[in-house]
Amino acid sequence: MGFTNQIERRRTFGIISHPDAGKTTLTEKLLLFGGAIQEAGAVKNNKIKKTATSDFMEIERQRGISVATSVLAFIYRDKKINILDTPGHKDFAEDTFRTLTAVDSVIVVVDVAKGVEEQTVKLVEVCRMRNIPMIVFINKLDREGKDAFDLLDDLEQKLGLSVTPLSFPIGMGYDFKGIYNIYEKNINLFSGDSKKNIEDTIAFDDINNPELETIIGENAAQNLRDNLELVHGVYAPFNKDSYLNGEQQPVFFGSALNNFGVRELLDCFIEIAPSPRPKKAEERIVEPKEKELTGFVFKIHANMDPKHRDRLAFIKIVSGTFERNKPYLHVRQGKKLKFSSPNAFFAEKKEIVDISYPGDIVGLHDTGNFKIGDTLTEGEELHYKGIPSFSPEHFRYINNADPMKSKQLGKGIDQLMDEGVAQLFTLEMNGRKVIGTVGALQFEVIQYRLEHEYGAKCSYENFPVHKACWVDPQDPKNNEFKEFKRVKQKFLAKDKQGQLVFLADSQFSLQMTQQKYPSVKLHFTSEFK
Ligand code: GDP
Repeated sequence: MGFTNQIERRRTFGIISHPDAGKTTLTEKLLLFGGAIQEAGAVKNNKIKKTATSDFMEIERQRGISVATSVLAFIYRDKKINILDTPGHKDFAEDTFRTLTAVDSVIVVVDVAKGVEEQTVKLVEVCRMRNIPMIVFINKLDREGKDAFDLLDDLEQKLGLSVTPLSFPIGMGYDFKGIYNIYEKNINLFSGDSKKNIEDTIAFDDINNPELETIIGENAAQNLRDNLELVHGVYAPFNKDSYLNGEQQPVFFGSALNNFGVRELLDCFIEIAPSPRPKKAEERIVEPKEKELTGFVFKIHANMDPKHRDRLAFIKIVSGTFERNKPYLHVRQGKKLKFSSPNAFFAEKKEIVDISYPGDIVGLHDTGNFKIGDTLTEGEELHYKGIPSFSPEHFRYINNADPMKSKQLGKGIDQLMDEGVAQLFTLEMNGRKVIGTVGALQFEVIQYRLEHEYGAKCSYENFPVHKACWVDPQDPKNNEFKEFKRVKQKFLAKDKQGQLVFLADSQFSLQMTQQKYPSVKLHFTSEFK
């Protein structure tokens, strides 16, 4: 298969949802269609198996949340599908934001009874800002839930989407009869049996055909006709370009648990979802079909075996091919690196690959060369737009609790920060170290990992900070900036890149500071130039 065909057959996407909406279940059903796994439950079972061998993942098991993102790939109808899994738990939102820089589209899962939830709002906002094409899957139709039109309204109002339903439920919960597939013009009847033949649909292109009564009954038939009329009256017809530009979002209904409506979703997805898209670098826009390799690190994962401190850096390939044992330029470090055992991901396994294409994710064993956001090329000085840091929500001093192990502690903190677990700030005044995280849970993860992977012990001390703001003096020589630095010395720190950060202790002091020093700009993300 030629290079261009390899690019065109790839679909790299993420599934996002509020926890419990059914992301894991849907992922697993998608894998079943690809023949990548044989039985339901495999994805979760595998998760539990892994936790037995891994201390780090033990935290996940204990808390029943997904700490780490992973990659699941399979082939379906000759398309190479790469699913980048994203943790739904809000404490790991940064991880999810970073993963969203590596997807070409997303599927949003919404619970029919709960509708749009808090995490859905946040994650969809990030996708909207980047014009990522989105498909919505409304899940759990086998249960009583909200009215379909109310849900569609919800999606428009709370998420700011412009939806167009491509399927529509026939009844719901106890009365759930099936789904009319607007996209394929057929009916799929619900039997409540997940092993039912998945091809078992009835072609039905004329909804006014009286056969409809015989198939789903009089009342349901009338309701369906009314509903579809309303759909056609209210929502713009599906337009592929609008979807690809992030201006329109198709909606599907189904039940992941019952494997119902999932094939329809997948069949439409592989047809309309984008193949790998061009990506902006600081210097220029890179097209996937360019011959030379470029790619960037969007995630670093601690090795599952705590005795080996190597890590897996996840690279999204943007252009060209990634080949085993070929030297590539690590742009930030200015040195060439070769990889003898790059990993590709297949279903829930990883294996060594010789060649990977744009859209693919390769996992590279790393002993500390990589940071999130690093770029690899064949020699070009190219920098993919970094992945900005946002102000953390929680801050604590980190102290060394074992004086004999201060070197290990330093190294551990350093590497965990490169992985993006949290952010480190060093106070200007006294050099004390402060850790900032999105969720309180990360403090435990850090403490646990420092001890189990680095043999170091730490303790925390409260440090009341409201927000971290990146300082942009505009003119570093002016007196106002000097005055700002002198007066606010206690609240100034450097982040890991050496950028100056103002740690405001309250909303009030933040406002006062902004008023008093108008020429000193305070930014809420690390990227403002
Ligand atoms: P995640 O947190 O978004 O990954 O959600 P899970 O896939 O783990 O699902 C959360 C719960 O909802 C589990 O108990 C699933 O069995 C259940 N669930 C998922 N899909 C459906 C569905 O279509 N119908 C019903 N009734 N339950 C579902």
